[in-house]
Amino acid sequence: MIPELNRLMAQSRRVTQLAFGMDRVAAMPSGLANWTARGFDDELLMTFARARPKAILLQLLMLMPILGISAFSPPLLPIPFGAFLIGLGLAASLILADHWPKFRQLTAKLLFLGFEALQGTGWALISQASPAPDTIPDIAFLVFIPVALGGSSLVFSSAIRGALGFQLLPILIGDLILMSLFPERAATDTVYLSIVLIGFFLYLAGRISETTLDHLTIRAEKDALIADLEQAKAHSDEARRRAEELNLAKSRFLATMSHELRTPLNAILGFSEVMEAELLGRHRVKAYRAYARDIHESGQMLLGIIDEVLDLSRIEAGRYELEEQKCHLADSVSECAHLLQLRAHSRGVIMMMTVDPELEAIVADERALRQITLNLLSNAIKFTPAGGEISIVVGRSPMGGQFIQVTDTGPGIPAHEIPIILESFGRGSLAVKTAEQGSGLGLPIVRGLVAMHGGEFSIQSREGEGTSVTITLPAHRVIHYSDEHAPIEMDNRVAA
Ligand code: ADP
Repeated sequence: MIPELNRLMAQSRRVTQLAFGMDRVAAMPSGLANWTARGFDDELLMTFARARPKAILLQLLMLMPILGISAFSPPLLPIPFGAFLIGLGLAASLILADHWPKFRQLTAKLLFLGFEALQGTGWALISQASPAPDTIPDIAFLVFIPVALGGSSLVFSSAIRGALGFQLLPILIGDLILMSLFPERAATDTVYLSIVLIGFFLYLAGRISETTLDHLTIRAEKDALIADLEQAKAHSDEARRRAEELNLAKSRFLATMSHELRTPLNAILGFSEVMEAELLGRHRVKAYRAYARDIHESGQMLLGIIDEVLDLSRIEAGRYELEEQKCHLADSVSECAHLLQLRAHSRGVIMMMTVDPELEAIVADERALRQITLNLLSNAIKFTPAGGEISIVVGRSPMGGQFIQVTDTGPGIPAHEIPIILESFGRGSLAVKTAEQGSGLGLPIVRGLVAMHGGEFSIQSREGEGTSVTITLPAHRVIHYSDEHAPIEMDNRVAA
């Protein structure tokens, strides 16, 4: 309950802040007793004050013909006296409309209501005016005045609840006095009509006040919602900034650690190689040679992982420098396929390659291209069971760039795992189950390198059918025949 009240209080203050600025809001007393009403009352008072000039104009327009008519009829004291009261009420109301914020809220409201009552008394006098003491008042005035006053005040005075009542009540009282004191003078039907009309306008004014309050409440809720959204957005921006900072810190840490690990690892690799080759003398126990080979192989695997970590951290930290040069995509891919041919063969997997013979040269980092191809091919070989096939296609993309596509007939990747395997260190359930070697860095590195070339990466996979990975280099990297002799000028900046 209390949080809800607090929320409404905040809403109310926000509406008021919008309407009056911070100073006035700061000056307002706070506390549960004053909550919504204060905020809305201020807004309603302001609406009322703003409408004063128009309301006054309308009343003056009503007053003019009445004064005109009375000038040609026998002198009727109530008419000029009524006009004087109306004028006084209107002038006071107009002055207060300019200065109401200087008063306390309740005082301002009561003053406004008092001035309305003053005008109402003036109108009551006019509506009851009759040509002679023993004649009935003019029917036109008796009905016309409440209708005209009610109609105009409905539009301009409904912001303050009761304002219309204070205007019409004196007329109603006048009607009742007329009926009770001079029953013989009163045209009863006309007075009844006047009373019914006044009741009708009072009812309408009440409804309009309620609608205005509802409208304000809805607006306050909308404002609060917008404020909530703004706050949520600020939080999410802050969280994203922190996540980016943390990611950068992680990349820096990994890069430093990897670098530090390389030095002792090189010693391990070197000495284990010496021991395996028995350069300084034969081992007395044969098993030591096998141990030395294991140490060397494990060291090399570790070095491979460290290199991958280093590469990925450099890419993520924006420190990977592309060494761009003219090269042929088909040649790089063929070399890599050739390199892995033996491994594929030993695992009973057939590797086929299709190359578009008319492919132009491109500008790219050849080392990165090789790394991309090796990662994709070694994944395909690793996960395709014996008897499976791997097809490599190098060709021209519909947009004028060039692509490499590696498709295998392996077990495929479940759709829900694709986002996971694209993250650093993300490995699929199959790789974990079959205990295949891997650190989960190959695909993120491929994606990072492709992005640095301004290219696109896509992966399609169906469980039980196979996986197809396509990387596409953009058209602007292709060197067309006419460009062959132009100097190579590529943007060598590192993509973040
Ligand atoms: P890893 O070095 O562990 O292979 P990658 O980032 O290259 O790291 O691959 C991440 C995961 O994606 C793998 O562990 C594997 O589950 C899945 N994966 C990648 N390529 C294939 C493929 N051709 N067929 C099936 N699964 C694959």
